[in-house]
Amino acid sequence: MTARTALVTGSTGGIGFAIAKALAREGMGIMLHGFGEPEAIAVKCRELEALGVPVACSSADLTEPAEIEELVAATRRELGGPDVLVNCAGIQHTAPLEAFAPERWDAIIAVNLSAAFHASRLALPGMRERGWGRIINIASTHGLVASIHKAAYVAAKHGIVGLTKVTALETAGSGITANAICPGWTRTELIEPQIAAKAKAHGVSHEEGGAILVREKQPSGQFVQPDDIGQLAVFLCSAAANQITGASLPIDGAWTCQ
Ligand code: NAD
Repeated sequence: MTARTALVTGSTGGIGFAIAKALAREGMGIMLHGFGEPEAIAVKCRELEALGVPVACSSADLTEPAEIEELVAATRRELGGPDVLVNCAGIQHTAPLEAFAPERWDAIIAVNLSAAFHASRLALPGMRERGWGRIINIASTHGLVASIHKAAYVAAKHGIVGLTKVTALETAGSGITANAICPGWTRTELIEPQIAAKAKAHGVSHEEGGAILVREKQPSGQFVQPDDIGQLAVFLCSAAANQITGASLPIDGAWTCQ
């Protein structure tokens, strides 16, 4: 996998950074992307560089299609590729449907769904030229099943599962694959507000709130580890996964078996 380049959107965050690290360990150059304090981002860049790969970084706002265009162009300019595109950036908001703020709906659809469409359409021509590519969309169990109070998130994640299938059909046989990874509860910043709400509702500590949250949905009773998602992404980039395309792969402690 050396000489390949990966653009991982949302890789300043928990799951994205774990994927970036896993791909860097395989020798891929990394475009680290996402929001955050400049010093914290610089620390993450140095951690990846210490693995001996070229690293560039961007804080392009994925709600702006023009910034996504520049993000893909900057990857090509600074590192080559991208040969691997991981659409990982995501946001969450929970509220009953009638109380769901329309601007929160728009933001979630923009970041969790439309950004993956834009990044994919912009990265695909280069992948086709090179005759090899991997698009890995980080969906969710909520791409396969629903939960209350997550109208926009569930709609976006079901949408990205559909986008993955279309991408797979249109690239079949070209050396490019497109797959969705569907994680269950994974301990990152994204779910901290939901853990806090659970702890408050049950009058328990933050840690116990997390345990209750997981047990409600995930029969294993254990969080998914971000590094395990990274290893699944590495596998999808390997030759053994040449014929895995259009799949939605749960990594969810049996959540979606129910
Ligand atoms: P996180 O909050 O740790 O990271 C989110 C990342 O997205 C950050 O890098 C952030 O800067 C970036 N981002 C958000 N809005 C952006 C914007 N407008 N422009 C550019 N970047 C933006 O969250 P995470 O848990 O690592 O989530 C990563 C992905 O995994 C998301 O798509 C999420 O839906 C999915 N996921 C998470 C879980 C979980 O339990 N944590 C479960 C299933 C799926």
